[in-house]
Amino acid sequence: MSKICFDVISLFPKSFQVLNDMGVISRAIRNKIISINTYDLRNYGMGSYKQVDDIPYGGGSGMVLKPEPIYKAYESFKKSKNKVTLLMSPQGQVIKQKDFERWSSYDQLIIICGQYEGFDERVRKLADEEVSIGDYILTGGEIPAITIINGITRLIPGTIGDPDSLKDESHNSCYLEYPQYTRPSIFNGMSVPSILLSGNHKEIKIWRSEQMIKRTFERRKDLIEKKNFRKLFDFQEIREELIEYFGCHEYEDDDHLWMD
Ligand code: SAH
Repeated sequence: MSKICFDVISLFPKSFQVLNDMGVISRAIRNKIISINTYDLRNYGMGSYKQVDDIPYGGGSGMVLKPEPIYKAYESFKKSKNKVTLLMSPQGQVIKQKDFERWSSYDQLIIICGQYEGFDERVRKLADEEVSIGDYILTGGEIPAITIINGITRLIPGTIGDPDSLKDESHNSCYLEYPQYTRPSIFNGMSVPSILLSGNHKEIKIWRSEQMIKRTFERRKDLIEKKNFRKLFDFQEIREELIEYFGCHEYEDDDHLWMD
């Protein structure tokens, strides 16, 4: 039996075939680490036309997914005790890496994908969480669902060959990953930093930590939490700016420079 089963309700179930061509994810499917079942909303549509959408009450543009087909699809498959139901919606909480970690402990993830102008408000009752992948609008919930399946699957033990590679990644802590290089050591006149060729693992570790902090500060200051300030003390060149950014004061005791 797979470690996580994804049950996805969608009007375009073929979209999920792309997961079978996604390297690490397709291997996880083949190795039965995950399983993906799609439920074609059309099969649960109303009347001889299998209608799944309708015009909005009160007027307005576009079509809205009807509640009955989504409820029928939802009721058509078995539920695990340890399940969570996610509704794809640009009105939901925007996902973060820690959400993937949290969801990876469920046995079953039920994902409901909207289309067109969205879904009837009563569909929200089915969901434990309403989930957005960012503050923009896509045509349907399939790409958000694929994003979630991908992000969770790579965290399941056995999916990624070297589990250590998950440790230092961007967004795992509040820092972005350090710069990575591979062979050749000189490419188009650009050299790999000599420290990485030195074989001195201790120094490499220090260099990487420094790079993580600098990089995060340059690109995503907003990720650095105030409580992590102390780790930043050694970086003279960014200290002033950090103090200004957080509106903090610095003071010295015998050995350290502290900030509050
Ligand atoms: N009219 C709706 C948007 C509908 S977009 C509104 O203003 O809120 C159609 C469907 O695509 C949504 O129901 C949702 O399932 C999906 N979708 C679009 N953008 C999304 C996003 N950023 N995150 C998650 N789902 C999204």
